[in-house]
Amino acid sequence: KNILVILGFLFFLAVIALITVGLTQNKPLPKNVKYGIVLDAGSSHTNMYIYNWPAEKENDTGVVQQVKMCKVEGPGISGYAHNVEAVGFYINQCMDKAKQVIPKEQHQQTPVYLGATAGMRLLRMESSDLAEKVLKFVKQSLTSYPFDFQGARIITGQEEGAYGWITINYLLGKFNQTSSWLRILPGRDGPQETSGALDLGGASTQITFVPQDEQIESQGNSLHFRLYGKSYDVYTHSFLCYGKDQALRLKLVSNIQDAKDGLLRDPCFHPGYEKDVNISEFFNTPCITKDEESFPFQKLQIHGTGNYNVCLESIHKIFNTTYCPYSRCSFNGVFLPSLQGNFGAFSAFYFVMDFLNLTDSSLEMVISKMQTFCSQPWNEVKAQFPDIKEKYLSEYCFSGTYILALLQQGYGFTKHNWKHINFMGKIGESDAGWTLGYMLNLTNMIPAEQPLYPPFSYS
Ligand code: AMP
Repeated sequence: KNILVILGFLFFLAVIALITVGLTQNKPLPKNVKYGIVLDAGSSHTNMYIYNWPAEKENDTGVVQQVKMCKVEGPGISGYAHNVEAVGFYINQCMDKAKQVIPKEQHQQTPVYLGATAGMRLLRMESSDLAEKVLKFVKQSLTSYPFDFQGARIITGQEEGAYGWITINYLLGKFNQTSSWLRILPGRDGPQETSGALDLGGASTQITFVPQDEQIESQGNSLHFRLYGKSYDVYTHSFLCYGKDQALRLKLVSNIQDAKDGLLRDPCFHPGYEKDVNISEFFNTPCITKDEESFPFQKLQIHGTGNYNVCLESIHKIFNTTYCPYSRCSFNGVFLPSLQGNFGAFSAFYFVMDFLNLTDSSLEMVISKMQTFCSQPWNEVKAQFPDIKEKYLSEYCFSGTYILALLQQGYGFTKHNWKHINFMGKIGESDAGWTLGYMLNLTNMIPAEQPLYPPFSYS
């Protein structure tokens, strides 16, 4: 019996020792912090993100966090195509901020990446020389800083989709290997379902998710990743010209035929809203294939009529659903597997739905709110939101309706799976977007195989 008591006591001591070791693993880390900078050169703006992480835990999941975001003043870099010298000063303000935020002794080891997205993809289609020139000036400017400049390039739509997916799943902890003694417990190492990613920019939009046991029928939409010892077969597609700014142009051009003497009565703008647009503005993008000369007037006068249902119908026209070379398609003949699991919807999906206070609403509530909002007179809307930029404010009716058209008619979301869409701006301290995933990949911070952590291997 005594032996049993002694054994029991020893067991008790062993458990206490294990718990103590487990707890001390959580003591504050020694401050050996690394930094990285990524610039997101979007179609309408550039944002600079600074991330940091504890050097010792570089390969763990979820340790990299955003410590600073800086909005560069002015348009996207593609807007400098005819004024390239000005790009030199453009990013100075944010890069100077980076010099202040990152300790001086770390500057030289801090990598800087710039990724340009659909605005630059479109500029390159128009003129590869101009796109090259803009990038050359951007590189010149970035190399004048004391950081470790790693390159400025136009990322592909596939990369944009993939890195957005990696970012949100990393931040949501979906790649979590159970990296402590908990892993020895049964059921702790099972695969976690990842979240899909929906990204809406000004010039393109991306959808990325892991389909359920379904073959990805088109090569160009298929990605294979091995992350932390698990394999992922991911579907992704980037629709160039279906970001919300280009989509508005597509819609307006498709409506021009209905304009009498240059006057377009547009249901996607509030009643009382009036705007003149030069027709030539529509045609300075490769997204519009129609001929400018085929229009008998130079100016288009837009008069809002504020009608959600009619607006939705006019947007439907820009999605071609008449042909599909696969078993299933979204639109324009693009393969789309059955929607699977939850989706994080970020960038303009979030900005717009957040403004409209619709991030947590059912589809029926969203539609009802859009009907009311679009029909509200423009002077009332302006008076209600005096601090919101007029360009954004005047377009929320279109943008909200476009989001509904894209998600329902484009991708096939219904009132039943609407709740699977989580409109998200940030996850913790970090913005949802492609930049974090891009940096994690380029700094090799996501190992293909799960690092071997024997229990209690932490220092
Ligand atoms: P990009 O510049 O390509 O990343 O696209 C960002 C898109 O989000 C553009 O269409 C912007 O006009 C839009 N956007 C950014 N901030 C807001 C906001 N606060 N409200 C509405 N739209 C926004």
